[in-house]
Amino acid sequence: MISVLNAERQTTQYRAVRRPRRLRQTAALRGMLRETELNAGDLIYPLFVRHGRGRTEIRSMPGVYQLSVDEAVREAESAAALGIPALILFGIPLEKDPVGLENFAEYGIIQQAIRAIKRRIPEMVLITDVCLCEYTDHGHCGILNAGEHYHAHLPEGYVLNDETLEVLAKVAVSHAESGADIVAPSGMMDGMVAAIRGALDESGFEHLPILSYAVKYASSFYGPFREAAEGAPKFGDRKSHQMDPANGREALREAALDVEQGADILMVKPALAYLDVIHTVKQAFPELPLAAYNVSGEYAMIKAAAMNGWIDEAKVTLETLTAIKRAGADVILTYHAKDAAGWLK
Ligand SMILES: [Zn+2]
Repeated sequence: MISVLNAERQTTQYRAVRRPRRLRQTAALRGMLRETELNAGDLIYPLFVRHGRGRTEIRSMPGVYQLSVDEAVREAESAAALGIPALILFGIPLEKDPVGLENFAEYGIIQQAIRAIKRRIPEMVLITDVCLCEYTDHGHCGILNAGEHYHAHLPEGYVLNDETLEVLAKVAVSHAESGADIVAPSGMMDGMVAAIRGALDESGFEHLPILSYAVKYASSFYGPFREAAEGAPKFGDRKSHQMDPANGREALREAALDVEQGADILMVKPALAYLDVIHTVKQAFPELPLAAYNVSGEYAMIKAAAMNGWIDEAKVTLETLTAIKRAGADVILTYHAKDAAGWLK
C-alpha cells in the first residue's frame, strides 16, 4: 500500500513540472506559438485549358473544370482576388499525334492561355507543365520506340529518353516565348532539366526558372487527373520512368541530379502519402524551395467524403495542406487552392 502511494506521489511531482497543456489554453496563445502557418500565398492553383468555349466539370473532381481560354482568364482573376500568387497550366490539344506537335506550336492551347492571362493579370506567376503525355496520341510522356523512331536494340514501345529531351526543350522555349514565368518539366526523363536549361539559355531565357518534378512517383493517386487532362496512356503504364512508390532513398538521388542540372525549385509528387519524402528532400536540400503536389486523387478523396457528409471539407483540407507544409514543402500545388484561400481569410 505504501509503495503504491509513493509511486503516485512521484508521478504527480513529475506532471507538475512539465505540462505542455500550459501553452494550449487560449486561442491567442496557440496562435502565437503555432509552428506552421498556411497562407494563400503558399498555394499554386492548377488549371486545365482546352479549345472551344465554356467550361466542363471533371466528373471525378467536383469543382474542377476544363476551361476555354476566356474561362481560364476568369478563373485566374478569381484566384488572384483570393491572394493566390501562381497558376500551373495544363493543356488539352485539339489533335494528338505521336510527338505532340501542338505542344510547341505558337497557337497551341497553352501558348494562347499564357498570353491571354498575362494580358489581364500580368503579376500572376504562370507555371507551365512541360511533358508530352497530354499531347501524344498514345498518351505516354515521351516519344516511343516505334515507327520512324525505332531502335532495334530497345523494346518496342519504350519511352526514348534522349529523343524526348529534344521535344521537351522545344516545348519549354515555346512556353517561355509566350510569356511563361516558370517551366515545370514533369516527365521524369533523365537529363530533362539540363536539356531545358541549355535550350532556354540559348534562346535568351537564362533568367527563367525551372521547377522540376524531381521526385515523381508512379502513383495510383493520379487517376482523376488523367480524366481531367485526357492524358491516360493508351497501353502500359509509366513505371519505366516514374519512381517506385516503395523507394524513399532514391528520391535523394533524383533530387541531387536535378540540382546538379540547374533546377531552381524541386517538387515531390504526390504529397499526402509521401510526407516522409517531402521531409527527407527538404532536409537534404534546405537551400532550394520545395514544392509538393497535392494530387487529384487526394482532392477527390476529400471531396467524396465531404459530399457524403462524412468529414468537414474545410477543416480536413486545411489540416492536410498544413501537414504538407509542416513536412517541409514551401509551396503546394492544390485543386483546393481557391477554397483554401477563402477559408483562410
Ligand atoms: Zn507526362
